[in-house]
Amino acid sequence: MGVFETAVLGLGAMGSAAFYQLAQRGVNVIGIDRYDPPHALGSTHGESRITRQAIGEGMAYVPLVQRSHAIWRELETSTDTSLLHEVGCLIISREDDAVERPGRTGFIQRTRAAAERFGIPHEVLSAEAIRARFPQFGVSDDEIGYFEPGAGYVEPERCVSAQLKLGEELGGHIARNTNVLSIERDADGITLRTETGEIRAKKLILAAGAGAAGLLDERFTPILQPTRQTMHWFDIEPEWNKTWANGPCFIWPHGESADDFFYGFPEIGGLGAIKIADENYGAAIDPDTMDRVVPEEFSAAKFARHLEPRIKGISAQRRQAVTCIYTATPDSAFVIDWHPDDDRILIVSPCSGHGFKHSAAIGEAAAQCMTAGKSDIDLSAFSLSRFAIGA
Ligand SMILES: Cc1cc2nc3c(=O)[nH]c(=O)nc-3n(C[C@H](O)[C@H](O)[C@H](O)COP(=O)(O)OP(=O)(O)OC[C@H]3O[C@@H](n4cnc5c(N)ncnc54)[C@H](O)[C@@H]3O)c2cc1C
Repeated sequence: MGVFETAVLGLGAMGSAAFYQLAQRGVNVIGIDRYDPPHALGSTHGESRITRQAIGEGMAYVPLVQRSHAIWRELETSTDTSLLHEVGCLIISREDDAVERPGRTGFIQRTRAAAERFGIPHEVLSAEAIRARFPQFGVSDDEIGYFEPGAGYVEPERCVSAQLKLGEELGGHIARNTNVLSIERDADGITLRTETGEIRAKKLILAAGAGAAGLLDERFTPILQPTRQTMHWFDIEPEWNKTWANGPCFIWPHGESADDFFYGFPEIGGLGAIKIADENYGAAIDPDTMDRVVPEEFSAAKFARHLEPRIKGISAQRRQAVTCIYTATPDSAFVIDWHPDDDRILIVSPCSGHGFKHSAAIGEAAAQCMTAGKSDIDLSAFSLSRFAIGA
């Protein structure tokens, strides 16, 4: 195979985007994944991911999501697929919500501030206005809504497929079902040891999601923590089908505890069901041995806690439930930075449950770092130095 200019380890949301962007720049690139992406064993599956342009998690994210929307529109044209659906997103919470949630305390206010600063079209709705316009949400009198019409959802598996397909057509190489066991560095380049041999490259983008910490050293164990998440689909009552089919995505922090938080989607693809999820920042899991079975009772408990008191037209009947993985940092912000001991390796680990909407632009930024030494979009908010590692 010779020596590649750049290897991209991991072809999920971030790696597939970087692979495509590198191939587009004419780089001799190889993308490697232990499975056959898109697959359901990492962080990038389950049909839908919310995207919003006013990012309550921090102003530094806004240029990334805006650039991602532009890239997805280009990809839709090049591949004749639909990827981004601007159905709107409604955030519901109390105006003074100050519950400690990783990256999301005071979320509605922070989102409004980002919208105002970047001139992103939005509306602020009273409880009464929400009930009139979106009857599927049973809000209480002290809740308000932030509605962003240009927000919506992206189809993660289709994005991965589109970028891998285009990247290959542009001359990129892909090693599927290739498990990388270790990364070794020497003066001439980088060796990726796999179960079937080795791959040599001059530079590396490490985008291995939940597998990243295991390929680095012990300094990264507390910084990149894989946690088990679940997504649940519930049937729509037939008379509510139209309402749910035409509705927005939603995010709803609704109580006094950090766990009083869930989000969901409209009906997608005539399924007759909606998908909802909450977040779990419990003990770190091993992605290789994680329990992937979601018991019926577990979905029933989610329904009782989040949906029953506030969502209308959804039956308690579970359609399906699947697991997924967050790779969460202590502050829930991304890590996108050079390896602390080697500036030929870029670590790209943007998850903590909110990375997908930025992935297309992160891939572009990573490709720029590899080819020009730096990216157009400022990535300094995502540096390792905040954890006292790296420059
Ligand atoms: C339930 C859930 C809901 C989410 N909702 C949203 C949302 O609504 N909006 C949003 O913006 N974001 C959301 N996210 C976050 C978003 O999905 C992630 O940020 C994103 O998918 C992370 O992509 P990644 O490329 O870092 O990881 P992955 O997609 O997991 O990719 C890593 C890849 O590396 C490969 N790999 C790992 N180890 C090795 C190895 N040793 N050798 C070879 N290959 C290896 C894996 O097979 C995998 O394909 C959600 C995440 C989850 C889990």
